[in-house]
Amino acid sequence: MRAIVVGSGAGGATAARELTLRGYEVLILEAGKQFQPFIRHLSWTEPLRRFGLLGSEKTITRFFPPMNIIRSEKDMVLVRGLTTGGSTVLSCGSMVRAERGLKEIGLDLKFEFEELEKLIGVQPFPKERWRPLTRRMFDAAEDLDLNPNPTPKAVEELKCISCGLCELGCVNEARWDSCRFLDEAIIRGATLKTSSPVEKVIIENGKVTGVVVRSGRTKNTFKGDMVVLAAGGIGTAQILKASGLPAKDNLWVDIVLTLGGISKGAHQLKEPPMVWYTQHEDYILSPYLDILSHWFHKPWRNVPIEDRVGIMVKLADLEEGSVYANGKVEKSITPHDHIRLKEAISQAKLVMKFASVSGPYIEGLHNGGHLGGTVPLRSSDISSMKPPWLPEGLWVADLSLVPRSQGLPTILLTAAIALRVVKKIDEYLKCK
Ligand SMILES: Cc1cc2nc3c(=O)[nH]c(=O)nc-3n(C[C@H](O)[C@H](O)[C@H](O)COP(=O)(O)OP(=O)(O)OC[C@H]3O[C@@H](n4cnc5c(N)ncnc54)[C@H](O)[C@@H]3O)c2cc1C
Repeated sequence: MRAIVVGSGAGGATAARELTLRGYEVLILEAGKQFQPFIRHLSWTEPLRRFGLLGSEKTITRFFPPMNIIRSEKDMVLVRGLTTGGSTVLSCGSMVRAERGLKEIGLDLKFEFEELEKLIGVQPFPKERWRPLTRRMFDAAEDLDLNPNPTPKAVEELKCISCGLCELGCVNEARWDSCRFLDEAIIRGATLKTSSPVEKVIIENGKVTGVVVRSGRTKNTFKGDMVVLAAGGIGTAQILKASGLPAKDNLWVDIVLTLGGISKGAHQLKEPPMVWYTQHEDYILSPYLDILSHWFHKPWRNVPIEDRVGIMVKLADLEEGSVYANGKVEKSITPHDHIRLKEAISQAKLVMKFASVSGPYIEGLHNGGHLGGTVPLRSSDISSMKPPWLPEGLWVADLSLVPRSQGLPTILLTAAIALRVVKKIDEYLKCK
C-alpha cells in the first residue's frame, strides 16, 4: 500500500513516521527545501533597523527563506514554515496539551499526548537559567494571582546555548522539531521529495488516486493508494480548493500580540522564549521578545535589543478566515478579538509594572502562526477522523482538522491528531 503524505511539519512528519511503523510504503512531498537554521550574525541588522532600512516584515524571507510571511490584512501578519519540518523548525519548543473545543466534539487525545510527550521528551526549562527579569515577572504574575507555571518545553537544557532565537531554527539541535520524526520515517524506508509543491489531488471515479505537483512550468503526477494532506491550515485548504473540494472558511491563527517595555540590560534574548505562562479563558501571557516586532515594527525602533522586554499575549481568535485556491488568505482581527486582546494586554502591562519594567509600553505587530480550522471535524466525524466531504482515498492529518482556535501552543495537538488519523486509516483499510 502506497501512501502519499503532503507536507513534513507537525502533522506530516508524525503521520509519515506512524505509517512506516505500520508497514506502509510512504512518499513525502514537501513544498520547501531541506531546512537550514539561520547562521547568526545579527549585529549587522541593528543599524539598519534603527534607520528603518530593513523594509517590511517580508524582508525576513530574503535572508531566511524557510520563514514564509503573508499579510492577511493591514494589521496582521501570518507566519509559517515552508521547509522540511514545516512550522516546527521555527517554533519556541513550547509543548502544551491544547484541547479547546475537543470535548465538545467527543475527541479525547490523552493517549496520543502521553505517547508523544514520552517520545519527544517534554520538561520545563530550569528556572536557574531564566533571566533575572523573567524570574521577577514570574513573581509579579504570582503576586497578581495570575497563577504562572513553567512552560513544558522540548528543549534539551545541556545543548541549549540560550541564544533566544529558536524561531530562526536551532543551530545546536537542542530544540525538538518534526525533522526528527521525518528522519525516522526515512530510515524506515520513506522517500522524501523536497521542492515539490502539490497543486491538487487527482480524483478518478470519486476516489483520490494521486496528486499533481507543479513547480514553475514543470508538472509531475504521483500515484498512490491514498493521499494524506498535511500542508498546514493554509496549504491543505489551498490544495483542496484547487481540487474543487470545499475547504471551510473557518481559518484561525491564534493571534499573538507582544507588549514591549524597557529594562536597561535585561538581555531577554539570552534565554529560550516563553519559559513560563499564565493561562486564561481564551489567551495566555508569556515572556517573549518578539523579533518580528523588534526588526520591523516602527514604534519599537528606538529601543536596543538588550533593553527590550516583551510579554506575549496569544489569543484564541474567532474562526473566520478564508484561504483561496490561488493561495490568497483573508484573515482579519474582529472587534471581539480586539476586546479580548485589550483585556489581556492590560494584564501584561500590570505584570511589567509590578516587575519594575519601564514604559513606554508599546504593542508590537499582530501576527499568527497557528494555522488551523479549514477542514473542521464535527462530532459525527470522530469515529473516522474524516469529514464526509473528503472523497475515498483522501485524508487530512494536520491542524486544519481542529475546529476551534486554541490560544496555546499547537504542535502536540497537531501531532496527536495525526497519530489518531493514521490509526483510523489503518483500521479502515484492515476492515475493507
Ligand atoms: C514562529 C512560530 C513559532 C511557533 N512556536 C510554537 C511552539 O513553541 N509550540 C507549539 O506547540 N507550536 C508552535 N507554533 C505552531 C506550530 O508550529 C504549528 O501549529 C504546527 O507546526 C502545525 O502543524 P501542521 O502540520 O498543521 O503545519 P506545518 O508544521 O506548518 O507543516 C505544513 C507543511 O506543509 C508544507 N506545505 C505547505 N504547502 C504545501 C504544498 N502545496 N505541497 C507540499 N507541501 C506543502 C510546508 O512546507 C510544511 O512542511 C509556532 C509557529 C510559528 C510560525
